[in-house]
Amino acid sequence: MKGVLQDYNLAELEELALEYGEKKYRAKQLFEGLMQGKRISDIPVSAALREKILERFEDEPVKIRETFVSRDDGTKKFLFELADGNLIEGVFMRYKYGNTQCVSTQVGCRMGCKFCASALGGLVRNLSAGEILSQILAVNRSEGGTLKDRAVTNVVLMGSGEPFDNYENVIRFIKNVSSEGGICISPRNISLSTCGLVPQMKKFAEEGLPVNLTISLHASSDEERRRTMPVANAYSIPEIMDACAYYFKKTGRRYIFEYTLIAGENCDKEHAEALARLVKGKPCHVNLIRLNEVKERSLTAADEKAAYRFLGILEKSGVSATLRRSLGSDIGGACGQLRVAYLKDKENNDED
Ligand code: SAH
Repeated sequence: MKGVLQDYNLAELEELALEYGEKKYRAKQLFEGLMQGKRISDIPVSAALREKILERFEDEPVKIRETFVSRDDGTKKFLFELADGNLIEGVFMRYKYGNTQCVSTQVGCRMGCKFCASALGGLVRNLSAGEILSQILAVNRSEGGTLKDRAVTNVVLMGSGEPFDNYENVIRFIKNVSSEGGICISPRNISLSTCGLVPQMKKFAEEGLPVNLTISLHASSDEERRRTMPVANAYSIPEIMDACAYYFKKTGRRYIFEYTLIAGENCDKEHAEALARLVKGKPCHVNLIRLNEVKERSLTAADEKAAYRFLGILEKSGVSATLRRSLGSDIGGACGQLRVAYLKDKENNDED
C-alpha cells in the first residue's frame, strides 16, 4: 500500500512541495483539494507534480463503496473500502444542531467487548490519521458539503475500534480535522469514546485538546464489568474514576459515561442505584442506550420500560442522565454490524 497524503498537515505538505522542487503555494492547492474530499488525480496541479505524488501516495485512500439509508430516521450508513481492500464503516446522523459523522479508528478491534460487533474477528490494523479524516471528507463531499458550508459539523469517534489503542494517529487526526483552512471541525464538536484505557486517558488530559471525553462503563462493579468487557481485567473502575478526576482537573471539562442497557445483565433497579452511588456528585453525565442487538451475540436489549425506570432512578438521585434514541437500527447502526454482515454475505457468496 502506498502512503496516505491526507495524513499530512499543511506545513508537511509545504515541505513535500519543496522536496519536489515546487513552490510552497502548491501545497496550499493540494491541501484545499484534499480537504474538499477530492482524489489526488482531480486536484488541479501540474500533471508532472500529480504524477510524482501518485507514485508515492494513494489516489483515494478511502472510497465510499455503499450507502444505506434508514427508513426509520434518514440516518445513513456508509461502507468504505480502504486501499488495501479492508472495509470499515461510518454512520451519518442529522440532528437539529448539526450533522454528526461517526468514524472508525481501526479495522476491527482487540478489546473483545461481548456486546460489540467490532470485536468479532479481532483487530486487523490501525487506521492512519488520514484514513480517519478521509471518512469525513468523503461523506462531506457526497452529502453536498463544501469547506465553507459543511455537511458534517460534528464528529464522534464511536465507530469500529478503540481510539486510545491507536493513540498517536487519533491525536494527529484531531489536530488535522480541526486545522484552519481544512474542514475545520472544532475539538469541542468532537467526542471521543474509550473503553477506559487509563494511561491514555491521563495522557489525553495533557494534550490541551478540548474534545468531549466519553467512557464506556456499562457496569458499576468490576466483577460485573469483567463479564462483558475483558478490558476490565486490566483497569479497575476506581482507576478509571481517578483518571476521570485527573481529566477534569487538567481540562475543566465534564466527561460522559456511556451505559448500554442489556437485559438480565446490568439494568435492574439495584444496578441503577449502584451506578447512581458511583457517579453522584462527579462532574459527569450518563448516556444510557438500549443494546443494539447483534445477531452473532446472544445478549438482548433491556425493554423500554426497564430503560425508563433506570433513567428515573438516576435522575431522582440527582445524576444528570439521558436515554439516547438508537438511530439507524434497521441498517445495523451499532459499531461493526454492517462490516460483519457484509463479510458474512461475501463468505456465503464465496461458498456458493
Ligand atoms: N472502543 C470505544 C468506541 C467504540 S463504540 C469504546 O469502547 O468506547 C461506541 C460505543 O458504543 C461504546 O460505548 C460501546 O460500548 C457501544 N456499543 C458497542 N456495541 C454496542 C451495541 N451493540 N449496542 C449498544 N451500544 C454498543
